[in-house]
Amino acid sequence: MPRLTLTALIVCFAAGGVLAQGVVRTADPIKRGLTESDFPRTVKVTDNVYTYEDFHAGDEKFTTTNMFVVTPDGVLLADAQGNPAATKALVEAIAKVTPKPIKYVVICSDHGDHTGGNASLPAGVTYLIHPTSKAILDRQASSPNARPDAWKLPTTAQLVPDQKTLTMGGEEFRIMFLGRAHTGGDLSVYLPRQKILFLSETFLNRVFPAMRSAYPSEWLRALDKAERMNVNIYIPGHGFTETGPVSKEELAAYHKALQAVIAEATRLHKAGVPVDEAIKQANFGEYRSWRLSSSQGPIAIRKVYEELDGKLK
Ligand SMILES: [Zn+2]
Repeated sequence: MPRLTLTALIVCFAAGGVLAQGVVRTADPIKRGLTESDFPRTVKVTDNVYTYEDFHAGDEKFTTTNMFVVTPDGVLLADAQGNPAATKALVEAIAKVTPKPIKYVVICSDHGDHTGGNASLPAGVTYLIHPTSKAILDRQASSPNARPDAWKLPTTAQLVPDQKTLTMGGEEFRIMFLGRAHTGGDLSVYLPRQKILFLSETFLNRVFPAMRSAYPSEWLRALDKAERMNVNIYIPGHGFTETGPVSKEELAAYHKALQAVIAEATRLHKAGVPVDEAIKQANFGEYRSWRLSSSQGPIAIRKVYEELDGKLK
């Protein structure tokens, strides 16, 4: 595999797919053959579709991945980074690719690691968001703990309860709710012309299924839907951007991981093992090597128990 130079701002995946063959299946940048100073980085996916990868907070390094699409009439951005400085760098990276303004921002995940930097997005962009996520962000903004200068979702935000199609600069975008998955208000962005699907946190590429706010069995159904769509490239909300064939394999690998984690929790639940004991006994097999397994494993067990006990509404 060719070594990426530190100065390479844009990694081109369109040219020959050389990287695809030797790519190491991991969310760990070091195991992947990269260094921490390679990030943040912009990845060119096709002529006008890019991803931006920057590190998630915390010691265990893996990327939070955003997608942006450049058209003659402006840019659509799907998700952003977790703090104002990181999202400012994202906006600057987009400006290096195109002078066109960011017109639309799709909040595919309402979690702080994808919205915490939104104050750095240009004023006047139109946000698209699922009603569930809007309620969560509005509640956070009006909580007594919120900083008075904290970013608030503008009242002009457009709600996408199910699906919305918009066209900009000749590119069609389908903003889709495939079902409750990681947040409950999970949106995806589909580009029918190029058959690209940005799945945000519905797809965590080699990151352990993170279930703090998840709907385990509904998440599986959302993945079924994504897999039935006519897609050449699936893009995750965490973990690396992959070339088309690898992205399909990795989505399937993630689906399998989610199934395995739910199956393990269900096995322990059926055996009558109390949840605290189940957390100790759970055997996640190969998924223990995925990023965040030690912190997210116990959370996943609790969440699956909650669903099996009928407590997840
Ligand atoms: Zn996240």
